Amino acid sequence: MTSSVSDLIARDRRVVWHPFTQSALPDELLPIAGARGAILVLEDGREIIDGISSWWCTLHGHAHPKLVQAVARQADLLDHVLFAGCTHAPAVDLAEQVLSAVPAGFSKIFYSDNGSTAIEVALKMAVQFWSNHKQRRAGILALEGSYHGDTFGAMAVGARGLFSAPFEEMLFCVERLSTDGTAADLARCEELCAGGTIAAFIFEPSVQGAAGMRMYPPEVIDRYQAICRKYGVLTIADEVMTGFGRTGPLFVSSVLVTPPDIMCLSKGLTGGVMPLAITACTSEVFEAFRSPDFAKTFFHGHTFTANPIACAVARASLELTTSDACSAQREFIEQAHVRCAARLREFPGIKDVRVRGTILAFDVCVNDTPGYASSIRETAKRFFIERGILLRPLGEVVYCMPPYCVSADQLERIHAAMVEFAELQCATLLAAH
Ligand code: PMP
Repeated sequence: MTSSVSDLIARDRRVVWHPFTQSALPDELLPIAGARGAILVLEDGREIIDGISSWWCTLHGHAHPKLVQAVARQADLLDHVLFAGCTHAPAVDLAEQVLSAVPAGFSKIFYSDNGSTAIEVALKMAVQFWSNHKQRRAGILALEGSYHGDTFGAMAVGARGLFSAPFEEMLFCVERLSTDGTAADLARCEELCAGGTIAAFIFEPSVQGAAGMRMYPPEVIDRYQAICRKYGVLTIADEVMTGFGRTGPLFVSSVLVTPPDIMCLSKGLTGGVMPLAITACTSEVFEAFRSPDFAKTFFHGHTFTANPIACAVARASLELTTSDACSAQREFIEQAHVRCAARLREFPGIKDVRVRGTILAFDVCVNDTPGYASSIRETAKRFFIERGILLRPLGEVVYCMPPYCVSADQLERIHAAMVEFAELQCATLLAAH
């Protein structure tokens, strides 16, 4: 390590607090100097493949020329302006473009700046919808094992555990449904909805990301949504991770029998270049707020709402995402994942090998407590870094979710390392017996 690199790390350790990081435990810090396509370039010149799209947001690779150009052009025209009482072409253009890409039925776009705020907006919209209709409905239905972000509302609707434990007393109560959608689950959903106190049902459709890339049939949501519809309960699809083609279709909501009333988007919205989020809603939701009564206003807004640079780059990213070339690339990734999954299934040291769209995941059979705190997380991360690949396991869940621009050679390197890891786990397991 050169002295300037070690100096950067030492200075970082002195003044910076990193997310989801226990500074008292060893945790390798990667000093990143730059990035191109699927490659992250380290300060010492080493190159590693970004196998998880930088927390699932880099869709088209780093520094894509079209996205870089969109940022530069927009920064020169209009960098930022408040969005209350002002508007601008990037926000309106993007809203039109998103509304034509999401399932029919959505009519308004509310902007914020990250996945968690998109969720807070959705929850507040749903609860105030009922309040504006003079009904006291503030209950929320959510799925077991869900994750919706780290702010208080998002934490409350997410599964409780390690991350939320210190705040438990401050989190509002939420009713939970399982992702199995059994007859008993449906009966419980019906009973809860019939009670007349539930405002909304929130879910990550098809894949529960942070819970460990848990995949379940989207039809389960159809069954729950049918019950919600019967009782007027609003539905909120959190497509922060699943949106923009991650699981195959452009949005999972497009393949549901009925689209949700509210939909949250972020992460891939700007191709991972700028922070931006959208909470889209139907005209029925919006109309509940339109009134001569000022108290019915949605009093919510963030400083960087609809930042013009973020909107401009989101437009360019959506154009890339909806191109035939991008669909073909996602198809290629999925097929390669499926082939790799077949190889991975041969190893007894891992289980539940699964693929959905551009996501490939498996669970490691661990001896210690399963879950985010499992010690295999660090071991596995180091294993992949040593092979030039950035994967960041979720506890005992190893997964890859590459940028759509990943080359056949890069993807093969990721897959080969995953197979090598599985092989090693298998050998460890056999040695223990
Ligand atoms: N919803 C889902 C499904 C997510 O995966 C995440 C982030 N991993 C969030 C919401 C929160 O997004 P952010 O980290 O941008 O606040």
